[in-house]
Amino acid sequence: MPTMSNLRTNADRLWSTLIETAAIGGTSDGGIRRLTLSNEDRRVRDWFRDVCVAAGCTVSVDEVGNMFAIRRGRRSDLPPIAIGSHLDTQPTGGKFDGILGVLAGLEIMRTLQDAGYETESPLMLVNWTNEEGARFAPAMLGSAIHAGLFDVAYANERRDANGVTFREALDGIGYRGPLAAGSMPMAAMFELHIEQGPILERQNKQIGVVTGIQGMRWYDVTVSGQSAHAGTTPLDMRRDALLAAARIVLGAEEIARAHAGLATVGEISVIDASRNVVPGEVRLTVDLRHHRDKTLEAMEKALGVLLNSVESVGYDIALQKLWESPVVQFDADCLTAVEQGAGQIGCSFMSIVSGAGHDSANIAKIAPTAMIFVPCKNGLSHNPAESATREDCATGAQVLLNAVLFYDQQKTHKPMRGG
Ligand SMILES: [Zn+2]
Repeated sequence: MPTMSNLRTNADRLWSTLIETAAIGGTSDGGIRRLTLSNEDRRVRDWFRDVCVAAGCTVSVDEVGNMFAIRRGRRSDLPPIAIGSHLDTQPTGGKFDGILGVLAGLEIMRTLQDAGYETESPLMLVNWTNEEGARFAPAMLGSAIHAGLFDVAYANERRDANGVTFREALDGIGYRGPLAAGSMPMAAMFELHIEQGPILERQNKQIGVVTGIQGMRWYDVTVSGQSAHAGTTPLDMRRDALLAAARIVLGAEEIARAHAGLATVGEISVIDASRNVVPGEVRLTVDLRHHRDKTLEAMEKALGVLLNSVESVGYDIALQKLWESPVVQFDADCLTAVEQGAGQIGCSFMSIVSGAGHDSANIAKIAPTAMIFVPCKNGLSHNPAESATREDCATGAQVLLNAVLFYDQQKTHKPMRGG
C-alpha cells in the first residue's frame, strides 16, 4: 500500500525531464531562451498540457494564460493545494529558474499516479504566465493578476519592445483561456525554486525553508552641481556632481552594512558628459532591501540623512521614490509542513529569506504560501551557466511532495479555519 511515508519521487525521471525539455528554446551555450508568450513558450505549454493530462490531471487555462492542472482528491468540496512556478525564462536564462518548480510538480503528479495514492484535497500544478518580465514588464504578472493586484485590461495593454501587446501575443500562441482570472481557488501554495544566491551552498545545506521575501524600495536621485572647465576651475571652487554621487554610492553601502541589509546603485549617468568638463548633473538609482519593513524604513531615513549631508556642502539633490514592495512573511503552517517534509527524509535544512521576488510573493496575499529552495552552483542565475545537481533537484522534489502531503493531512483532518 502506498502510504504518505513511503512515496518516493523518481530522481532519474525528474532529471531527464529537466534535461529533455531544456531543448525547447535551448541555446548553444547550454541555457534556455524561452520568452513569455513566444513560440518556444507555446511549445513548452503544449508539452506541459499533454504530460499533465497523461498524469491524470485536468488542465484549464485562464484569460491571461495561467495554466492549472488539477488532480482530483478524495474530497471534491475542498479547494486544491497548489504547487508550481513558471516555465518562461530570461533571454539568457538557465535550465532551472522556475522550471524546476513546475517539473518537480509534474514528477509529484506522476509519482501519485504510479502509486495510486489519493490525497484528501485536490492537488493543482500551476504554470504562471510571465514571471520573468523580460518581454512584458512588470515581472510576476500572471500571479499578480490571479491575486487581484492588477486587472486583466492592464495585462492586455502591456507591450513588448516591438510594440506587440500582451493580448496579441497571448492570442498568437492560442493561450487566452476561458477561465476568469483569479477565479481558480487554492487552499495553499508551495513553490520549489533554486535559491539564485550562494547561501545554501556556502552553508552546505540541501534545503532552504524560505520564511519570506525581503522588502525592496527603489529610488531615483538627481544630483545638481555646476559644470565647469576641467583645466581652469580650482578644486576648491568646484561643485562636481559626480564627486557628490560617489559619496552617495559609498554612503549607501555604509547604510546597508549598518542595518545588515542591502543597497545597490545599479545605474549612474553623467548628464552631458565630456572628458574636460566638471560634471554638472548626475542621475543615479538606489535599490534598498531588507527582510524587516521597520529596518527598511530606517534605511530610507538614513538615505535621506546622507543626501542632506551631501547637499549641505554645495549641491542640490532631488530624491524620488519609484516603487516599493513590502516584506512578505510566509505562512507558519506551510513552513511547518516544509520542515516536517525535510525532517522526514533526514536532509539538512536551514531557514532562509529570499532575496529575489517570486510569484509566491503575490500568492501569499491571498492564500497560505511557502517556498522551498535548493542550492544552485555559485549562486548563479539568469545565466546559461545556471546549474543545480541531480541530487539537489531530487531532494527538493521529495521535500515538496512530503510538505504537500503533510499539509493535506493536517488541514483535512481538523476543521478548516474560518469554516
Ligand atoms: Zn523564477
